[in-house]
Amino acid sequence: MIDFHCHLDLYRDPESVIRQCAEKRLYVLSVTTTPSAWTRTNALAVGHPRIRTALGLHPELARERISELPLFDELLPKVRYVGEVGLDGSPEFRDRWKHQVQVFEHILAACAAAGGRIISIHSRRAVPEVLDRLQQHKHAGVAVLHWYSGTKRDLELAIDSGCWFSVGPAMVFSKKGRELIQMMPPTRVLTETDGPFTSMNGETALPWDVSFVESHLMTVWDKSPQDTQAQLSLNLETLLKGSIRPNIESSQ
Ligand code: MN
Repeated sequence: MIDFHCHLDLYRDPESVIRQCAEKRLYVLSVTTTPSAWTRTNALAVGHPRIRTALGLHPELARERISELPLFDELLPKVRYVGEVGLDGSPEFRDRWKHQVQVFEHILAACAAAGGRIISIHSRRAVPEVLDRLQQHKHAGVAVLHWYSGTKRDLELAIDSGCWFSVGPAMVFSKKGRELIQMMPPTRVLTETDGPFTSMNGETALPWDVSFVESHLMTVWDKSPQDTQAQLSLNLETLLKGSIRPNIESSQ
């Protein structure tokens, strides 16, 4: 199983969640929301080769944490994954739009200069704006749009521009989300939870709740449970192999 976007550091007891992920042999992309959170979040995953820690600066924090961009640049050579980054066009974050754009463009340019990264991207109410920036920074790496919630037309544009998608429980719960999942090429889909920010049956979602998403994909793709898991594993492998000219310091 693969949880390609969750915030391990924001669980009440990250060590226990990580221990259970290891027992269940889960592959986890542990995203961060600020560069200053990366070092301690990465430390949580030491000894767990299936857990990788992405370097992020969340759009909702762009204004408060723009001063951490130099730290982002300093840490970037150590990572293969960047996230959570992106743009959020929701009314409550409009007042910091300029900061969001400045941060996101800086990050994409830095990723391109570093040889490309795998990037977990937030695009709520800002899909065209995100796609524009990706277009301007073609060598930034591979974009994985996490929890895609835009229009069907914009989804077609995202697919045409080579984006990947990580699909979580909330998408499966909504009719629109299910329709979007159906449009996504099965070869460019990964599973995620976005835990602890999502819930399952009233409880905080945990990384292994991706099994719920897998069951849904099984139906959409008309595959057996084994073939669905095989497709998702192959997708992860393809993403890792194909994406990057790594000039990365660590073993990530
Ligand atoms: Mn998130």
